[in-house]
Amino acid sequence: MNASNSVKKFSYKEKVISKVCSFNRKHKALKLFGILYAIIAISVYNFLFYFYRNSKRFTCLACILLFFVASSSFSYPGMALTISFASDFEKIENETAENEAVADTTIEESDAELASVEDVDSEVIREALSSENPDVAESEHLNPEKQASLSDILEASGTDAYDIDERAEVLGASKAADDPDANTLSDDSNVNDPEFSSDDWKIMLVNKQHPIPDDYKFPLGTITGTMRCDERIISPLLDMMKAAHAEGVSLIICSPYRDMDRQTMLFDTKINRYMEAGMSYMDAYNLASQAVTVPGSSEHQVGLAIDIITDGYSSLDEGFGNTRAGKWLSENSYKYGFVLRYPLGKEDITSIEFEPWHFRYVGVDAATFMVQNDICLEELWNTYVK
Ligand SMILES: [Zn+2]
Repeated sequence: MNASNSVKKFSYKEKVISKVCSFNRKHKALKLFGILYAIIAISVYNFLFYFYRNSKRFTCLACILLFFVASSSFSYPGMALTISFASDFEKIENETAENEAVADTTIEESDAELASVEDVDSEVIREALSSENPDVAESEHLNPEKQASLSDILEASGTDAYDIDERAEVLGASKAADDPDANTLSDDSNVNDPEFSSDDWKIMLVNKQHPIPDDYKFPLGTITGTMRCDERIISPLLDMMKAAHAEGVSLIICSPYRDMDRQTMLFDTKINRYMEAGMSYMDAYNLASQAVTVPGSSEHQVGLAIDIITDGYSSLDEGFGNTRAGKWLSENSYKYGFVLRYPLGKEDITSIEFEPWHFRYVGVDAATFMVQNDICLEELWNTYVK
């Protein structure tokens, strides 16, 4: 076989050379072209012959390559929703919000990706994708029974409106007396002592990475009606509301404490809805975790977080930050131990978009220290909590 191949090879080469020789004899001026032709023809022949001789090897190699390409394309999940942080999702949302035309296309594309099953109700997915944050998705703030102004709270506790105004005046007067210090952070708290204890309930860190411990217990107090929160924060909360009232700023609290059952119920309801629309459990879980906080990772469940709206502005959105109440809170809440939990510019750290309405009680010391150093709770824990 090899011998016959080499004979073939030799005869082809010989043929080419003899042709070129006779050509060169006839056209001496084109001798160079003849030689070039011979070189190219023989090289191409050798090259092809090499492949022909190794055809089995190359076939095997091609099969292996094909196998790898095919298997790696199967390793990607059919559904592209593997987002683990709310902020990632919200970033996509924010980008799309900038351009409605783009948003429509993106949502349509997402529909296709998310659905991965043709009969999924795209309206359900569209609605889930349009939920900007868990607080809004739960819509409690729109229910008047789930809202409480200072007068609602004091009336319920048997204090009449006259008393409120009177108290407000007293508070306003005492505040006026303190005014020189009002714009500077007070030094009487231990703000220069950057050590906070991890056992301190006030600075408890609750987020997706730090779910509420199973054995966590706290005293549940009633603000008014069915609205409850950690009993220990009711007094500073009322002080803050009174101080705002004294300055003519209305604060209406909503969505304080939500129990685990309620959070679980909200979450399961979402999952069931998406599954009814044709999604698999995993797909539905992923989508639900974008719309409702995963049970066990919401600060509302430990009664330390309060959502706040104001007269004439009941939307839980960034616009609240521009209202008088939003501005007053961002400037003064720390004096009563409350911090804006998800500040603008800290989204990468908190994994939650800017929420000017969501306030978290951390105590006056921690709040003052956090405001003074412009840090969020995660940053406080990373550096100053021992
Ligand atoms: Zn909230």
